[in-house]
Amino acid sequence: MKTKIIATYGPGIDNDKTLTRLIKGVDIFRLNLSHGSEDQWHSYVERIRSISEKTHEEVAILADLPGPKIRIGKLEGEIGVKTGETVSFAYGGGEGSIPLEYDLYPELKVGFRVSLGDGYMRLVVTGLRKGKIYCRALNAGIIKSRKGVNVSGGLVGVEPPTEEDIKLISFARKEGFDFVAASFVRHAKNIERIRSLLGNEGVVAKIERKVAVDNIKSIAEASDAIMVARGDLAFDIAVEKVPIAQRRIISAAREAGKPVIVATQMLASMTENPMPTRAEVNDIANAVFEGADCLMLSEETAVGKYPHGCVSVMRRTARQAEKNAAASGEERDIKSIEEGIAFAASSLSQNYMTECIFAPTQTGYTPARLAALRPKARVIALSGRPEVRRRMRMYYGIESHAIGKYSSVDRMLRLVEGIAKDMGVRRYLVISGSPNVMGSTDTLKYICY
Ligand code: PGA
Ligand code: MN
Repeated sequence: MKTKIIATYGPGIDNDKTLTRLIKGVDIFRLNLSHGSEDQWHSYVERIRSISEKTHEEVAILADLPGPKIRIGKLEGEIGVKTGETVSFAYGGGEGSIPLEYDLYPELKVGFRVSLGDGYMRLVVTGLRKGKIYCRALNAGIIKSRKGVNVSGGLVGVEPPTEEDIKLISFARKEGFDFVAASFVRHAKNIERIRSLLGNEGVVAKIERKVAVDNIKSIAEASDAIMVARGDLAFDIAVEKVPIAQRRIISAAREAGKPVIVATQMLASMTENPMPTRAEVNDIANAVFEGADCLMLSEETAVGKYPHGCVSVMRRTARQAEKNAAASGEERDIKSIEEGIAFAASSLSQNYMTECIFAPTQTGYTPARLAALRPKARVIALSGRPEVRRRMRMYYGIESHAIGKYSSVDRMLRLVEGIAKDMGVRRYLVISGSPNVMGSTDTLKYICY
């Protein structure tokens, strides 16, 4: 199967038995740093690494930074609200107001709509007095601690990384994650700043603001991967515009040769139910048709009742969809020699019935390029470095395999020959650069016995 799966880690799967079963179907685990503590994340990471070692499943780990998300503060209990009732919010709380962790007051106007969580509760701003935000509830609901708050109309707000993100980045660096995801990105420069604080982690730009959709081209250039973060995006642009944005974001990522993740509510109903809705299955298949590399599960695996069922439905649906997904070979504007060689390999593999494209790689750059072209042949990326192999768990259709050390092209070709023989492959292409030179794809070789 070519589509990659991200599962959000959480209490629902944090035991050896469940994880041992689940890890076989998962490429990347995501830790949501919006919830929990460093001790808890650390223990999650330890378990993932220990099960990964035991099962020989080389999974990657992605740490998701909260970014400037507006949340309700800590509440003692829960607050039940009736339709039409007026409640007040204030930065830090006090005097009967529900606490907010961000000072929204200066940015609101009467008439603005406020949504809580994934939209389970909607309110309208009716008054702003002395730091208090008065809202009328448009539906009945329960207000709970730490729920996300979204405001219609797209606020100016703070840009990532926030101070909290910066603290979490130093934690992330200690843990040695494969990917770090940046929330509420607005411009490429947010990504550049986050990258300057990181080491070799891949930076994933979460597209959940309208401005980020508008800047998608430069953001895709600046990041290592893109996420269509449909949960928060649906508040910033209208929910009915999310499908169009999804298409636009996926094609921009593909154009830039970067992997793209489709996220949020893909199997939401399976958080409670053993079977998906028909619409959810369609959503998964359509994401594959549109060209997603990777599909993400959130609450479904973190706290849901059927984590294994979700992974299984997602995999089975994606595999069926892949059979119908568009092949490559579309007209492309070739922008570099590296891209041209990848394009040549992809089209040759189509026309000359080669079984495999082997891609020895130092950084994973060429396999990412190849993945974006969707060749029909299997692509086997070869790297001696586990961190590079883990990075490639996000790329559509890329299988990674270990390779020994080499310092000449001849030696590399002999190593590839050995791997091909072991796999029973007799007709293949090798696409490579010069040993020890990063990002210098300059060779394409056709081999047939
Ligand atoms: P979140 O991001 O789950 O961290 O909010 C994804 C989304 O907004 O869709
Ligand atoms: Mn989000």
